[in-house]
Amino acid sequence: MFLREDLEARFRFENEKENGEDQPMLYVDAKLDGQNFTTLAKRYPGKKWINLVPGFRVSGSEPGGKRNQLIIEPVPVLHDDRLFVSHSGHVVLEDGTTRTIDLDVTVGMIRRWRDDPHPCQCDGCRNIFPNAIKALAAAEDYVAGRLKRGQLARKLRKLGYNEEEMPVFN
Ligand SMILES: [Zn+2]
Repeated sequence: MFLREDLEARFRFENEKENGEDQPMLYVDAKLDGQNFTTLAKRYPGKKWINLVPGFRVSGSEPGGKRNQLIIEPVPVLHDDRLFVSHSGHVVLEDGTTRTIDLDVTVGMIRRWRDDPHPCQCDGCRNIFPNAIKALAAAEDYVAGRLKRGQLARKLRKLGYNEEEMPVFN
């Protein structure tokens, strides 16, 4: 999904009670469907944005961010059947011939290996999953707004991934 250049968005303040005190909470709404405003994110004074709609993140005009600039960007929704990365590998068949196979690794496969107390320890799995777990954690940080896109790309490169070739980000 791509956001249009002319996406209509607005700021809105609302007082919210926190520990019995009124706090001016800042909200961002945008017309994702071109018609009705959806609340995408909120933030407390001096804090970071809290994203409220999976698939979108809001950044900018916050401490440490660019002032007077608000960025609304689509981000991947990391549900289990989302394709995370494709690996191509070689298998040697019984007759000695080699064949190239593409192995599609989904977000769910990574989570299952991570959460399995006795995950498969074959060469293939040990090649793929330890790094994929770190890459998924970085992707989750990015989606939640804890990493910027450039930081994500650098982390992935260190882990041996090319962000531009990963289905999940494209
Ligand atoms: Zn295995």
